[in-house]
Amino acid sequence: MRKPIIAGNWKMYKTLSEAIEFVEAVKSSVPATDKVDSVICAPALFLPSLVGKAEGTDLAIGAQTMHYENEGAFTGEVSPTQLEDIKVQYVILGHSERRQYDNETDEGVNKKAHAAFTHNLTPIICVGETLEEREASNTVVKVSSQVGAALKGLTPEQVAKTVIAYEPIWAIGTGKTATAQDANEVCAAIRKTVAEVAGEVAAEMIRIQYGGSVKPENVVELLSMEHIDGALVGGASLKPDSFLKLLEAGANA
Ligand code: PGA
Repeated sequence: MRKPIIAGNWKMYKTLSEAIEFVEAVKSSVPATDKVDSVICAPALFLPSLVGKAEGTDLAIGAQTMHYENEGAFTGEVSPTQLEDIKVQYVILGHSERRQYDNETDEGVNKKAHAAFTHNLTPIICVGETLEEREASNTVVKVSSQVGAALKGLTPEQVAKTVIAYEPIWAIGTGKTATAQDANEVCAAIRKTVAEVAGEVAAEMIRIQYGGSVKPENVVELLSMEHIDGALVGGASLKPDSFLKLLEAGANA
């Protein structure tokens, strides 16, 4: 039985005071971590404050990206060493917006996944197809190749601890969601790819989230699917009441 994981991806939203207010509002109502892993992935600037505010609660804090080097002349970047130092627990890697606007590649995502495990960070690796790829029936080919590339060289134990977020690009922020059946089919294909690269045990353990216009109204059905173990949520994670409803659905899944 895989424990559900619900992660909010705040993207480039909120000011520091709004972010702190949010964590103060939700922290005592977050379900226990034996039922669901609850994560907020916030802008890098807010991470030290939010980690402090969430300390001793069931809310974990994650970053939205990082570099793969420990340090160096990389202006504007944040390193895995720095995230580990301030006790960040998760990091989103290869989000489609970063692949699209910041030239993230499968190779870079793979280097970052290795760096994450060196620094006690759990990677949430995003994969997903464009509308054109879906219409050309290339969804499974595309996501399988992204998953294979991202996990390259990781040990089966590391793969087992990885989180994959299947996010069809056409469903992100558009209000369009894949049907639960469609999403489950792709997540099943992802699990099959994981079995091929890291073995059956890792494939059974790895958690696969669905992402793309997840909200309190559709999360229960998505989480009821065999291969969907959680959700990566943008818009609906920005309001405390909506985020708490998603966590509750995770705790009851
Ligand atoms: P959305 O974003 O929930 O607003 O569609 C999901 C994501 O980009 O992770």
